Amino acid sequence: MMDYQALGELIRNSDNIVFFGGAGTSTESGIPDFRSADGLYNADTGVNVPPEEILSRDFFFAHTEDFYKFYKEHLIHPHAKPHPGHEALVHLERQGKLKAIITQNIDGLHQMAGSTNVLELHGSVHRNYCLDCRRFHSLDEVMASEGLVPRCECGGMVKPDVVLYQEGLDMQLLDRAVNYIREADVLIVAGTSLTVQPAASLVRYYLGGRFFLINKSSTPYDSFADYVITDSFAKVMPILAGVSD
Ligand SMILES: [Zn+2]
Repeated sequence: MMDYQALGELIRNSDNIVFFGGAGTSTESGIPDFRSADGLYNADTGVNVPPEEILSRDFFFAHTEDFYKFYKEHLIHPHAKPHPGHEALVHLERQGKLKAIITQNIDGLHQMAGSTNVLELHGSVHRNYCLDCRRFHSLDEVMASEGLVPRCECGGMVKPDVVLYQEGLDMQLLDRAVNYIREADVLIVAGTSLTVQPAASLVRYYLGGRFFLINKSSTPYDSFADYVITDSFAKVMPILAGVSD
């Protein structure tokens, strides 16, 4: 049994903590990793289209209805609420200790919990834009659209501000993430196996000696971390942040 109180002290003694999270930080809010979802059965080809292909730029423009069918069913979770792990990070940010949250998730749970400096590497389902006039559309508007495909007042098609396969990441945002990680005193990585880019290469910028890896199962990067915590993020993070014991 690891001494979470002692590990928490190592974290709370710092005023330059950076958090990096993946899908596993949202699963305890009831949001499954979309990779676990079944694809869409394509009547024309008779084959099942895997999620990775549906969530690609080409597929979005070629089969917009099918894209939105999958997207609304598997990527939108209107009833998901932040859990104590998210709240613990809010606490650390308000104390001035946590400088940034870098996330691969698009669900907005960190902001819903109250965190302010959140770098969403893959975008957010809460931001949507008309491809013609660029007008902003909320998630509610997207979900309330008449057909499967949300349309703007101008007649244009609305696209989520989510980074699809075949699309590049926002390089400015990535640069900011690198800077936060490079200058961090404590790096907490949670809910990611670190096998997917850019996660794997991002954490390599960390130069300090307090790299905490919180994941329910072991990862190929366990040996790279200074402290490996194989446990639930929602349970452990509040203890580490000193808001529960
Ligand atoms: Zn428009």
